[in-house]
Amino acid sequence: MSYLFPRDMKTTPPTILRGEGSYLIDDQGRRYLDASGGPAVSCLGHNHPAVTAAIQQQAAAVSYAYSLFFTTPVIEELAETLVTQAPAGIEKAFFVSGGSEAVEAALKLARQYFLEIGQPSRHRFIARRRSYHGNTLGALALGGDTVRRQPYEPLLQSVTHIAPCYEYRDRRPDESAEAYGLRVADELEAAILAQGPENVAAFFCEPVVGASLGCAPAVPGYLKRIRDICDRYGVLLVFDEVMCGMGRTGHMYACLEDGVTPDIITTAKGLGGGYMPIGGLLIHGRIYRAIAEGSGALKHGHTYAGHTLACAGALAVQKVIAEEGLLAQVREQGAKLTARLQDRFGQHPHIGDIRGRGLFLGLELVADRESKACFDPAKRIWLKIRQTAMEQGLMCYPSGGCVDGRNGDHIVLAPPYNITDSQLDELVDKLSLAI
Ligand code: PMP
Repeated sequence: MSYLFPRDMKTTPPTILRGEGSYLIDDQGRRYLDASGGPAVSCLGHNHPAVTAAIQQQAAAVSYAYSLFFTTPVIEELAETLVTQAPAGIEKAFFVSGGSEAVEAALKLARQYFLEIGQPSRHRFIARRRSYHGNTLGALALGGDTVRRQPYEPLLQSVTHIAPCYEYRDRRPDESAEAYGLRVADELEAAILAQGPENVAAFFCEPVVGASLGCAPAVPGYLKRIRDICDRYGVLLVFDEVMCGMGRTGHMYACLEDGVTPDIITTAKGLGGGYMPIGGLLIHGRIYRAIAEGSGALKHGHTYAGHTLACAGALAVQKVIAEEGLLAQVREQGAKLTARLQDRFGQHPHIGDIRGRGLFLGLELVADRESKACFDPAKRIWLKIRQTAMEQGLMCYPSGGCVDGRNGDHIVLAPPYNITDSQLDELVDKLSLAI
């Protein structure tokens, strides 16, 4: 076999032949309930007829019109759809090929914005410890996972990391959620002052932390405080919604629930819904205008940026979400899944926390509930759960998080927005067996 299976070269993965709604089906006829959409990608499940038809129709018309030379109806309509639903102030959309590239583009856009407005010293970035923003060199430098970064050091030297908002482990027993949120947000101010505000371009964070912490939402008030601090020092705020955005939390953008408008939103995963590889940037009018009235050209662009067929697929995903009322369904099914998980695992000796929003739910695995002690990372409990779940015909997304003894293994659940009640039962039953 010539395909380099990247994460475990000693095993052979199942060979998937078909998708059918919430299921993937392999060459042995085994069905896998897709409870995570891969890494929170397949938001409509597989082979949705409206999406495949739209892709076929676009392919029959034109698949690729270079977006640096041309515009197309699908790129325009997709941009309009995303901007219309975005927090007020977001005025433009730009498309790339995936999440890491969206983050790279956001890093560069922030730098370009400050060059355009005559503040070239603003070149530094602040992100959070134990965060994940992608796997290209810039996004990797931004991410706060020391284990991932280590083999590639030295990376971009202009990134500082502060504490994440991770209530389960970091909130003090005597502290209210709100007080905790303000305390941890204020680390941003300290970091900006330490770097010198005139040197800081942007702060990046996920409103609900996906892969690195297992669906940990910011506590109420945290993002607003972060916004205030960024405004006070003229620092751009970037929300990385690659994983938590596009309806996953029950709102088209996770930050809508917090009522906070960032300067840039990065998106991918659910944008293409697995039908197409596509990512994007949603850009505040203030940034767009500074560049439009300045040099008039974005200094970032790739060959496949705004790929026509990818835009047609993403647009069809958006239409299905609207036409089938799926945001409301995410909230409804999310509440049911949360209740069922609480029911089944609320007192489980090795599940310390069940959290998340909408159909973006995380379970944190602990060696001991009382002390919240992590499992020994060498045991790779998360990997065993992934394997046993696969044997049960369940695809979930467990990760090993324990980089410094302060975040544990966890399981991310991100099923399709149209998952049925009986599939929710199947999910919880199979997960229970796997755990
Ligand atoms: N940002 C976040 C928050 C992510 O979760 C991911 C992917 N897990 C990325 C960026 C990178 O996206 P991609 O894998 O599409 O490059």
